[in-house]
Order: sequence, then structure tokens, then C-alpha cells
Amino acid sequence: MRLRALAKINLGLDVLGKREDGYHELRMIMQTINMYDQLEIEICQDPGIHISTNLPFIPTNENNLVYKAAKLLMDEFQISQGITVELQKFIPVAAGMAGGSSDAAATMIGVNRLFDLGLSVKELMERGVKVGADVPYCLLRGTALAEGIGDKLRSLPACPGCYVLIGKPGISVSTKFVYENLHADELEEHPNIDGILEAIQWHNLYKIADLMGNVLETVTIPKYPVIQEIKDHMKDHGALNALMSGSGPTVFGLFDDKHTAQQACEALRASHLAKTVFLTTVFNNGGRRK
Ligand code: ATP
Repeated sequence: MRLRALAKINLGLDVLGKREDGYHELRMIMQTINMYDQLEIEICQDPGIHISTNLPFIPTNENNLVYKAAKLLMDEFQISQGITVELQKFIPVAAGMAGGSSDAAATMIGVNRLFDLGLSVKELMERGVKVGADVPYCLLRGTALAEGIGDKLRSLPACPGCYVLIGKPGISVSTKFVYENLHADELEEHPNIDGILEAIQWHNLYKIADLMGNVLETVTIPKYPVIQEIKDHMKDHGALNALMSGSGPTVFGLFDDKHTAQQACEALRASHLAKTVFLTTVFNNGGRRK
């Protein structure tokens, strides 16, 4: 069985405060994009979960989110056969694009179908949160508001179609470092999440682009100025706006015109500011996984 695990960007990311358990209370607008990893899952007689991947630095043992997701369902349903998973990564790793969570979500869909478990997407989402906070969203896909630690989800009307330019600099940013260095109670400005929600209701791409914001940039940009350079480069080349996704360091720019987006993509490649440069579009399925 072949599956696509789609990446996400955040059109808005706000941190409301820190909870007593140490997690941050978030308010995020999530958007799936047409950039994906590919998974090929097969049943095998050899028990266990056997993962192979094209990236040598990704774990293929129980630390891979694919493993955790498969094990969760296979244990619950006492499946004695094994599976092989061939994972082809295209989504940048540790980049704020939920690549690992999306692989986990695709694995759950695959295992559910392969073994005829009969679980609905909602039932998979209830289980997926045990693998990671972003997994329920990766099962849902489309445009959504995520609150709590990212696990409280509400599907939104589809974001207007547009081109998305991805630029990931050749640096790694630890999510832990970003949240540890964020002083949520001292933030002077917060993105207008309600304004973005309204712009989505009105299907107004220009307003969405105008209002998009991510509080985590206050931590990452001073430490890694290349993030700001990539944002500026995209805006100088016709992006409606550009923003860091999640805890970074990936930057995305939104474009309403294909030709401008293609030229900006070529210019970004030539600038060598980003290691991964990819032009894609927003993915919408009416907020429902088909
Ligand atoms: P998020 O947007 O949720 O913060 P991310 O893009 O920062 O996600 P991932 O690419 O999902 O982060 O992975 C981060 C870490 O998880 C990596 O360092 C990697 O070793 C580990 N990992 C486990 N499983 C996977 C997987 N299937 N794909 C990528 N990384 C994985």
C-alpha cells in the first residue's frame, strides 16, 4: 500500500502561556501543503515493524514515529503478522513542517486499511495524540485551528488556493530550545489569530497573508538571522508575505501568481540562502481526509 504523508505550514502561531505541566498553551492555524513523504507499507510474515528509509540519519527503530504509530495499533488489535515500511523522506527533517507526525498519521491510515481494523478517522485521531500532539491534525488535514498543545482541533473552510514557496536554511533548530527561550508572558505583540480566522471565512488570501504571524520568530530570528534574510528575499521577489513555520527554521512565502512564484523560486535557489527550496501549493480537501 502506497501512502502520501503531507507536510504542514502554520499561517498563524501564537503562544498564550505556559501550563503547570511545562507545556505551552498554543493557538495555531494549520495548513496542509502538497509536499510529502512517501510510504510503502506491506504485510510480512516476519513479526515486528521493519522500517527502511532513504535518509541515513533518521532512526529506523522504535524511535521512528512510524514505528510508534504502527505499534500502537498493532498492539491494541493483537496483530501477530509483521509489516515492512519503506519511507521516502522529502519533507525537511526537524524543520517545523510536522514531517514525522505526518508519517505517523499515514502509517495509522495504512495499518487500519491493511488489517481491516475498521477505525474511523476520528477514532484514529483519538489514538494518534499518544504518538504526538500534531498527529491528530495530520490525520485530519486541510485548514484547521489547533489549540491546547495543538491537539484540540477545529476544521476551517479551505484556505484560498495559492502557491507556497518553501525555503529551509541548512541549520537545525531544536523545538525544545525555542520553547525554552520563549518568554510567553513578556511578549509585546501577538499575531491576530482571530483576524486570520475571519479572513479564512471570507476566503480573502490577501488579508490572510497580511495578518500571518508566528511568535516563535522572536526566539529564532535573533539567533539565526538567515531566517529573516529568506523572508526578505521572498518578499522582495513578489511574495504576498513570508513567515517561519512552526519552530523553524523553514520559511514559506505565499504567492497568488504562478509565474512570480517560479521566478522567486529560481532566485532563492541562486541566492544559496536556503538548502531546500521547493515550490508547491496549498492542499485542500474540504478539511476532510478522503
Ligand atoms: P514539528 O513541525 O512537529 O515540530 P519537525 O519538522 O520539527 O516537526 P520532524 O521532522 O517530525 O520534526 O522530526 C524531528 C525529529 O524526530 C528528528 O530529529 C528525527 O530524528 C525524529 N524522527 C522520528 N521519526 C521521524 C520520521 N518519520 N521522520 C522524521 N524525523 C523523525
